[in-house]
Amino acid sequence: MSSTQEPTDSIVDAPGLPERQAVQASVDDAAAAEAAAGPAEVLDGNGAAAAPDVSDPTIVATHSYLGHCDDLVGTSGLLEEGRVYRLPVLPLDGLVLCPGATLPLRLAFRGDRALLQQALMAPAPLTRLIAVVCCHRSYSTPQLQLQRVGCVAEIRKVGGGGINLLAKGRQRVEVQLEATAEGSLQLSSVPVKVLPEPGPLAVPLEARAGMAWHPPGIYALYDSWRLAKRARRLFHSIAPQAREFEGNPLELSYFLLSNLPVNDNARQQLLEASTVDERLRAECRVLQTLGVLCCRACRIFLARSTDAIQMSEEGISACFVNSHSWVHDIVTLSTVTPGVLLEGSPETAHSWFPGYSWQCAYCPCGHHIGWQFTAVRPGLQPASFWGLRRPALQAGGDRDPVPSAGAGLYAHSGSSSEDGNGGWTSSEEEESEGAS
Ligand SMILES: [Zn+2]
Repeated sequence: MSSTQEPTDSIVDAPGLPERQAVQASVDDAAAAEAAAGPAEVLDGNGAAAAPDVSDPTIVATHSYLGHCDDLVGTSGLLEEGRVYRLPVLPLDGLVLCPGATLPLRLAFRGDRALLQQALMAPAPLTRLIAVVCCHRSYSTPQLQLQRVGCVAEIRKVGGGGINLLAKGRQRVEVQLEATAEGSLQLSSVPVKVLPEPGPLAVPLEARAGMAWHPPGIYALYDSWRLAKRARRLFHSIAPQAREFEGNPLELSYFLLSNLPVNDNARQQLLEASTVDERLRAECRVLQTLGVLCCRACRIFLARSTDAIQMSEEGISACFVNSHSWVHDIVTLSTVTPGVLLEGSPETAHSWFPGYSWQCAYCPCGHHIGWQFTAVRPGLQPASFWGLRRPALQAGGDRDPVPSAGAGLYAHSGSSSEDGNGGWTSSEEEESEGAS
């Protein structure tokens, strides 16, 4: 499964949308009306201002474009940490799933459907579980570049005769495959080791009382609760329109992993962090330098992170799937640089965002970077917004927080273990200042 340019085009029409021709007319009408009068207030029958019809993030998060999906009864228990299980493995191109995140899938291929059947029929505690791992496909060779650390997903809903499904990320796993696998590799039963998830740490009482060997600032570097507070503040500064997150430091670390407008390489490194404080420190470093989003292919400026808006309950970023089974991972933004090019006519069929049409968006370098979504229901707010593919983005210019290969936040050399200092160097002074 990989990127294509169509965002949706599913087998089921999104409910409540009019015919394509009629919608095209209404798009033109709406655009003309906006050009003439601006996206101002909506008047009711008496000429008084009516409340705008605001897009509902909870409906977006239901993935209604997949049609009706049945809830699967019950839930699987957590797998035992450190133990090796055999699970079906689903490689997804450029997609990093983490615990707590929702994954929509459309299994168009017979092999993928066989994986689903295998997961549904598996005995407890493996019932309905698949391991999702980020991969990169080479278009010149039949090889998959698979990451070693992935996430177990629990299938929660199934519809469309077993083709459409919604899954939820559960636990991190190390997938025990070769890093480079032949395209024909058997993925139906792969050993996966459940990675431990140590709880958040706090500064010891002795350190707070000034009785510990090291100064309090050193302990603060590892204090998950203080790191979480700092990460929350930084996230709000780079995405002020995103919702406030309520949850403990571990949950926050995964919320940020699933929401940061950075590409899959950066998020894979965050997924591989072996402790919550390590992940939060890495996220703080990313957040400190994040601001400008550029094209990953040509590095020109595309958007600012402060323009990120929340269009799904999942956050400012979410995954969606189209009829070709491509899962797209996008960040939603109110505006992008005027240089972004649109191609094709606005389409409303199978829109991921009910009430909006979509149109493909390209970087001036020709790289497909996402879509513009435009309201086709009069008065719907926002009138338009953008969904940029996170795998197509790179944090910009000299403020790039993502080191080049070989100089990673913590180099990944086939396992999630790190060197003695946890991969962190003296560049953490500011963390110390901020936390002390
Ligand atoms: Zn470009």
